[in-house]
Amino acid sequence: MTDVLPSDALPSDVLLSVRGLHVRFLLPRGRVVSAVTDVSFDVRAGECLVLVGESGCGKSVLASALLGLLPGNAQTAGSAVLGDAVLGGAGAPGRGSAGPGFPGRGSTGHVPSGHVPSGFGSPGLDLLAADERTLARRVRGRLVGLVPQSPAAHLTPVRTVRSQLEETVAELRGPRGPQAARGPWRGRAALRTAAADAAERAAFPASHLDRYPHELSGGLAQRAAVALALAGDAPLLLADEPTTGLDRDLVDLTVDELRRHVDTGPADGAGRRGMLMITHDLAAASRVADRVAVMYAGRIVEICDAADFFGARGPRHPYSRGLLDALPDRAFVPVPGLPPELSDLPPGCAFAARCGHATRACGTVPTLGAVTDGAVVPGAGRTPAPVPSPAPAVPPRAGASPGTGASAAATALPGLVACHHPHRPEHPDPEPESVEPTHA
Ligand code: SF4
Repeated sequence: MTDVLPSDALPSDVLLSVRGLHVRFLLPRGRVVSAVTDVSFDVRAGECLVLVGESGCGKSVLASALLGLLPGNAQTAGSAVLGDAVLGGAGAPGRGSAGPGFPGRGSTGHVPSGHVPSGFGSPGLDLLAADERTLARRVRGRLVGLVPQSPAAHLTPVRTVRSQLEETVAELRGPRGPQAARGPWRGRAALRTAAADAAERAAFPASHLDRYPHELSGGLAQRAAVALALAGDAPLLLADEPTTGLDRDLVDLTVDELRRHVDTGPADGAGRRGMLMITHDLAAASRVADRVAVMYAGRIVEICDAADFFGARGPRHPYSRGLLDALPDRAFVPVPGLPPELSDLPPGCAFAARCGHATRACGTVPTLGAVTDGAVVPGAGRTPAPVPSPAPAVPPRAGASPGTGASAAATALPGLVACHHPHRPEHPDPEPESVEPTHA
């Protein structure tokens, strides 16, 4: 399945292009956990793509795969290419990506090479094929900034925020970093100023810089984590459940802040940022998203414009609709049943046991089909999904407000849904059943 275009036709503003990503874990006694299956999407400059789904659906595993942070028993297949909009034309020729299929036991990538031809005009950097040295010295923090799920656990408890920021700035933007040519650090005063600037960009108060993490509120700890994520001026942000544990006001503040960083771009003015945000909080997603991707049992089952997803049209996939119906300000009816075990997935649609539309056709895995005139044109078996027309370059988001879904990239892409049900008016959704709450 694919969200967008084949890699040889991707527009130059694509920051990250994921194609056919699989992640599985090999467990004792031959058990295999298929955490991520055949996932494809793009993130463009100026865009926030929000990946939503219930806990345990593979969202955070996907984030770990992108940053090379999977455990040793993980295997990956597919590609996740950083484009020129991230690399700044710094890609280098190299070996191509290995073909589909998993490598041998115990490896997390297909080939220990960092570069693949991407069709961006110069080679991209395949995060799945990059070696640890490349990821550590070139990618994490510098090209991709991680906003972690648990800032309290992310921060070093025995060091002040200032100390951690200064160390991070020196490491990411010092002579060894890609920005060295633009001005390596000369002296402690410059480093101190740069750390203070990084804090200010994340709205972290200067008066709290000399505090330890345990002296910070949840909201300030999150801002400190955001400041660290921004310290390297990374053009792509990866926010993994950044609002976990925060109350609603802090959730709103945090996602608005992240949206602002997408809209304003890196501090050096070199291009614009994009963000992949992973969350199970649909209210947070509605504030920040340009596009929404819904993940279920390791697969993306729907990708669409956020304005459509949260607006009057609504999503098409029964699971996406169920997620929205579970919100307190909507039907407040939970999705019935529980997701399947990722180590024991059914042969057909993984949502079938919970779906009021399930038919015999659902015994095969649906591929992504385009949404045309509000109805789904289902994919047929394993036939590749329709490929949308090329999207135009994204214009500046000047004046865009959070949650507007105003990205031209977002509106240029049709919705894609993996479901056998056509969702036409003659096939209305059934009335939701009243069931005992499940985890959402
Ligand atoms: S493919 Fe079938 S079971 Fe799966 S969501 Fe669509 S209608 Fe429901």
